[in-house]
Amino acid sequence: TERTFSIIKPDATKRNLTGKINAVIEDAGLRIVAQKRIRMSDAQAKKFYEVHSERPFYGELVEFMTSGPVVVQVLEGDNAVARYREVMGATNPEQAAPGTIRKLYANNVGENSVHGSDSLDNAKLEIAQFFTDAEIV
Ligand code: ATP
Ligand code: MG
Repeated sequence: TERTFSIIKPDATKRNLTGKINAVIEDAGLRIVAQKRIRMSDAQAKKFYEVHSERPFYGELVEFMTSGPVVVQVLEGDNAVARYREVMGATNPEQAAPGTIRKLYANNVGENSVHGSDSLDNAKLEIAQFFTDAEIV
């Protein structure tokens, strides 16, 4: 079993989709073992997306992620990192497979409703940015 880090992004919380997205996550066999709704600070968002700091959309991305509440989560299950990437679908919803969260709910490549860690190492780093061990049950 494995853990991954998830964010339900501002476009989704704004449209009241937290429950619908959580249903897709749970139906896929992943367990939500930690969850909180927060407003990301500018510093938190900049740090979280630091790997993209040279990309042209970095400023827009940080602005978007701080534009409203997000729900940060830890998901647990077999192959959770890869499994959740599958469940989310492609970054661009136009390329996402049917039934995936992004196909169902994303507005566009920027406002794409969810984040999921892309490796086990990154999952550990990202979880530690938002949760203490005691908050994960
Ligand atoms: P995430 O890291 O959020 O799970 P991802 O791994 O599918 O998504 P990345 O390449 O890591 O995609 O990009 C991080 C985020 O940056 C994307 O989810 C999206 O919100 C934003 N993004 C990526 N490409 C673009 C783009 N061309 N224009 C605008 N925003 C983009
Ligand atoms: Mg990514």
